Amino acid sequence: MSKWVYSFGGGRAEGRADMKNLLGGKGANLAEMANLGIPVPPGFTIPTEVCTYYYANGNAYPAELTEQVTEALVRVEEIMDAKFGDAANPLLVSVRSGARASMPGMMDTILNLGLNDVSVEGLAKRSGDARFAYDSYRRFIQMYSDVVLGVEHHHFEDILEEAKSDRDITLDTELTADDWKKVVGKYKDKVLAELGTPFPQDVHDQLWGAVGAVFGSWMNQRAITYRRLHDIPEIWGTAVNVQAMVFGNMGDDCCTGVCFTRDPSNGDNDFYGEFLVNAQGEDVVAGIRTPQQLTKHGRELQHSDLPSMEEVMPEVFRELNAIRHKLEAHYKDMQDMEFTVQQKRLWMLQTRTGKRTTNAALKIAVDMAREGLITRKEAIGRIDPAALDQLLHPTLDPKAARDLLARGLPASPGAASGKVVFSAEDAEIWVKDKKEQVILVRIETSPEDIGGMHVSEGILTTRGGMTSHAAVVARGMGTPCVAGCGEIRVDYAAKTLKVAGRVVREGEIITIDGGTGEVFAGAVPTIQPELTGDFATLMEWVDTIRTLKVRANAETPVDAATARKFGAEGIGLCRTEHMFFDPERILVVREMILAETEKGRRAALAKLLPFQRQDFVDLFNIMQGLPVTIRLLDPPLHEFLPHTDAEIAEVAQAAGVEASVVAARNASLHESNPMLGHRGCRLGITYPEIYEMQARAIFEAAVQVSRETGRTVTPEIMIPLVGAKKELDLMKAAIDKVAGEVFAEASYQLKYMVGTMIELPRAALLAGQIAESAEFFSFGTNDLTQTTFGMSRDDSGPFLEVYRAKGIYEHDPFAQLDQQGVGELVKIASERGRAARPGLKLGICGEHGGDPSSIAFCQSVGLDYVSCSPYRVPIARLAAAQAALGDSKGSGMH
Ligand code: PEP
Ligand code: MG
Repeated sequence: MSKWVYSFGGGRAEGRADMKNLLGGKGANLAEMANLGIPVPPGFTIPTEVCTYYYANGNAYPAELTEQVTEALVRVEEIMDAKFGDAANPLLVSVRSGARASMPGMMDTILNLGLNDVSVEGLAKRSGDARFAYDSYRRFIQMYSDVVLGVEHHHFEDILEEAKSDRDITLDTELTADDWKKVVGKYKDKVLAELGTPFPQDVHDQLWGAVGAVFGSWMNQRAITYRRLHDIPEIWGTAVNVQAMVFGNMGDDCCTGVCFTRDPSNGDNDFYGEFLVNAQGEDVVAGIRTPQQLTKHGRELQHSDLPSMEEVMPEVFRELNAIRHKLEAHYKDMQDMEFTVQQKRLWMLQTRTGKRTTNAALKIAVDMAREGLITRKEAIGRIDPAALDQLLHPTLDPKAARDLLARGLPASPGAASGKVVFSAEDAEIWVKDKKEQVILVRIETSPEDIGGMHVSEGILTTRGGMTSHAAVVARGMGTPCVAGCGEIRVDYAAKTLKVAGRVVREGEIITIDGGTGEVFAGAVPTIQPELTGDFATLMEWVDTIRTLKVRANAETPVDAATARKFGAEGIGLCRTEHMFFDPERILVVREMILAETEKGRRAALAKLLPFQRQDFVDLFNIMQGLPVTIRLLDPPLHEFLPHTDAEIAEVAQAAGVEASVVAARNASLHESNPMLGHRGCRLGITYPEIYEMQARAIFEAAVQVSRETGRTVTPEIMIPLVGAKKELDLMKAAIDKVAGEVFAEASYQLKYMVGTMIELPRAALLAGQIAESAEFFSFGTNDLTQTTFGMSRDDSGPFLEVYRAKGIYEHDPFAQLDQQGVGELVKIASERGRAARPGLKLGICGEHGGDPSSIAFCQSVGLDYVSCSPYRVPIARLAAAQAALGDSKGSGMH
């Protein structure tokens, strides 16, 4: 016979903490507490398997369930010395859901079950408190009717309000037993009127109704939405916990409360909690009365006039404090507990791992490792890498009021406020001339906006996804960014943005939270990050564990310095095109692109060489001998082309040709699909002189820095968007030639490497051939995702939302590596590459290099390093350590 019911209470239990999948979190922990000898009201858990059965069999239960429930109920009656439905000494129970993962408030709960017109009298007599009994009964009718019978809450609220106004009072507590009796009568009349059948008096009917409602609530809309948001599979189902009621509302020697074994907001090892005297659990949650602090220390901190439990119920407090220590030592983690005291007797109703702020999580993990409660490895496993973001950027003050305007993609974390401007140019003017702080609002951004993006406090775009230009650049700069905020309409001409009937004009202040994607009207105060000692300590531990190296994507001296500060072990991607948008240079770059002849291009390139050389000198100096991978020019040319007549005239003048010539050439370079057009090494193939100039700048800089510092620089030169070995061969030959020339001119030799990005499916498949020439691979998973999915990284945001909602793709593949498709290509390329060239150095430099689940994948395929934006370096270090420990759980740890 299958086991469908697991009992607990009376000092023992049939379940255990490690049976969460079957018993749900609540049920498993109640069983564990019972086994530990902690006072838990007896009860039983109907496991998740029954939920699965229920849905697989047209809402029917397994045949043996009724009998097993009846037996379990008898055990509860014996322990409690009371009888379910009894006229003299009734047992009351609570019926609660309890899924594997906590889903707070998402499913239904029923308290005080077992009361009817007869047993309520028994309860009144046994407790000596008729008022309490009838109050409990009316609470039960209200909850049960709402949850199980579908008679809405407000009907009962109306009756209660009427009762109070009849008696001319405002507080529930002022109602007498007789008042409650009348209310109960009216409640029952209401149920009869609404349903045509009376409120169920048979306690077993009540119980089965409640059990069915809890299983039913697994499929309510709230729960479905919550599961989708938290990646909880539907198939898990919920368990149902039926447990003897204990009462915190039987008088002034009763109370109920919640507590944490440590302070969940800062992680201090202080007992932290609140309680309400003479109250039931939902009163605490409802926040009707101000709760009292558990400890004297807590009361002092809160400047509360209300006495603490430590002061008014010292014995119970001592017992609770002992349980706190016992549970924390047992679970080896901070616990969040619920308790009730009935006539001075303490009962524990729940324990679970407590939620905490990231700061608290760090402190608790480091402290517990120092206390010897957990190992350092366990401490590392306790921190969600993604949550570290909170510590590296300013965040919104949680206490501050906010006025939400819209929600977009959380493209680059951090919170910022500023005056709205609608062009990169205006951003620069407002910041430099008017000394204002601005938020740059664009439909989308392009490389020429870089200057304005740099000076802005935050960036908001209405189009584009997680790897759109705005998102990538903002993350690199550590600037908060909300991207793809489709609800907002931007009118550049009118300099306004409109959303939900509201208009925000240029110069008005907004706040964005790039960690949540929210946009607020007005200024919301922020809190600055503090990299505390615990952060540094954990990072030290992390570095002793991980095997993956962590580099950064950086090109400016500021970014490179930030990367080093956060512990980057090199630069995995220097995007040289980002160096070309400086106002001093863009004109020369345009001249070069628009030149009709090689000679014209070479003339312009000669002007760029000194700038480019200095860029690399700076970079090599900052990186002090750490590896630096420099990618030669990559982006579609149109990004550099002039847009306005004035810009065309400027280029024409610099090049000494007619504006019409430049305009014609400009038009001829137009492409309908630039991302798949004349970009990457295709530029080098058609205009080798561009890559030659860049190679020369790299080698000359490397020679200079090696000479000046005595520390030899070993540049790694990377060719983008390779799809054929021959492309790489041609480019490598050109680079080798330049190297020979520079070394001869300087009478100085140094080592260098030439490798390739793997960004196209063809390159991944032909990696064996390509590795014959390439000395390293770096997976450009932004383009590899774009080309594997055939989905534009700049335009996919809006429809990907729909795809995710429909469950076609679970995650945004531009944020979290698609292991099945793109990952398979990465694997194939790694294997084929290393088969052709043993020991081939492998890295990743797409945005996925900073995403924890993608990092775990990189570890599993044997990459040597990940490279990510500077601000993600600590996240990547932690994620890499977790991956090395093999305990990464995908997108987060808890
Ligand atoms: C990539 O494609 O993953 C990459 C790193 O290059 P970019 O984002 O500059 O195209
Ligand atoms: Mg790319």
